[in-house]
Amino acid sequence: MNCETIREFASKCMYCELHTGRVQPVFSKGNPEADIVICGMCPGPDENKRANTLGYPFIGRAGKVLDQTLEDVGLNLENTYITNVVKCFVTPGITLKQDWCDNCLPYFIAEVVEVKPHVIITLGADSTNAILNIDSKIGEVRGRAYKYTDKVFVIPTYHPSYVARQGGKGIGYDRMIEDLNFAISAKNEMKIGDTG
Ligand code: URA
Repeated sequence: MNCETIREFASKCMYCELHTGRVQPVFSKGNPEADIVICGMCPGPDENKRANTLGYPFIGRAGKVLDQTLEDVGLNLENTYITNVVKCFVTPGITLKQDWCDNCLPYFIAEVVEVKPHVIITLGADSTNAILNIDSKIGEVRGRAYKYTDKVFVIPTYHPSYVARQGGKGIGYDRMIEDLNFAISAKNEMKIGDTG
């Protein structure tokens, strides 16, 4: 199933209560053939606006910080695929409920099967916990590689909204850069392992 088909299913999904708040279906952006998938939490108010006609994630304040960190390490929409673990709008500040994640994870897993990345970078505790099925604070798990499948590692980092709340710079920003660079090295090593 290609990403467009997954997008269509997700945009009509009514498996959980969140669909009632969905003004604009939000799915992904970037390259569905990229080696790196970046996974956020859920669309926020900016992404859920009708004006977001392309349904792109990360177009607001957090998106600006994400764009800047990606640019700093040489990543962009050509060499990454960017999505969210939950596809419908959630009011900012609310932790993702298990039921929302359980209903939405099949879309994310279908994206991973289609994109076949080497590395998934999870942004913040909610997406990390949902994807790895753990219950951790981001500061305890960030910057390390966790095996997802035989061929895919998950590397958690801070959520760019957290960094935006710190003024878009400082220690959180620096740690995001560290973690993104680590993810790039891990991706490169896995690529060598794949062909060597
Ligand atoms: N916008 C998104 O698309 N995802 C987030 O996690 C935050 C803002």
